[in-house]
Amino acid sequence: MLARLPLGADAASIYRAELGRPAWVEGLLAAYCAARGRLVLQVVGLLFDDRAALEAALAEPPWAGLRDEAGGVLCERFARALAELSPPGCALAEPRVAPWLLDTVCALRAALWREERGASIAPPPLLLFHAPSLGHDHHDGRARATHGRAVFVGGAQRIAVDLDCEPEQLLCQIVHEATHVLTDPAVRARFEGVAQDTAATAGGDGFALHRALERAVVDRDQRLFETHAPRYLEAYARWRRRYGV
Ligand SMILES: [Zn+2]
Repeated sequence: MLARLPLGADAASIYRAELGRPAWVEGLLAAYCAARGRLVLQVVGLLFDDRAALEAALAEPPWAGLRDEAGGVLCERFARALAELSPPGCALAEPRVAPWLLDTVCALRAALWREERGASIAPPPLLLFHAPSLGHDHHDGRARATHGRAVFVGGAQRIAVDLDCEPEQLLCQIVHEATHVLTDPAVRARFEGVAQDTAATAGGDGFALHRALERAVVDRDQRLFETHAPRYLEAYARWRRRYGV
């Protein structure tokens, strides 16, 4: 559904024009832009185990940022579009990820949690989801993951990416999503009271917060790859060029 929303210059945009423009797009887009807490909907597909639970949450939003009037309108239109589109959504990944890739993700997450949270802290369980709509582009002839989403549910970290990417680029995207939870708190503390805004056109503090969150992850992962997986540094350099940093 979100891949049908032309968000323009917005880091959260996964828009693909070839998917067409159903009638609900205009109303949903307007509601999306008007709601302060809209970013929750970028990960809402990962938060619930079944569709009924998702629909119940949209009927009575449990998220503070969506409890105002604009948030209510957005959730209502989102639910209606969901009913109309009935999208394939995210599916549990089949064992299509190369074992070396999973091993590397696990080793890098273990190093991250050890270094950021303390010697004896093991990373929480990881569930990987294949969400083709999150997409990839092509860079130097390689399919490079462009977006990911991550949430915590029941103590496990759920990460959605488009698994149909070149494996080393996929590694970089998964590690990026896995790192946010560790680097975000310090950045958010510097921007107290500011709501994150991924729309470049918004300017201001919200977008500055978004840029700072991304920058912190990109720099942290640079050090992570340098220290623990230098063989993928070249792949990481290719991946991070997308961020222009
Ligand atoms: Zn990010």
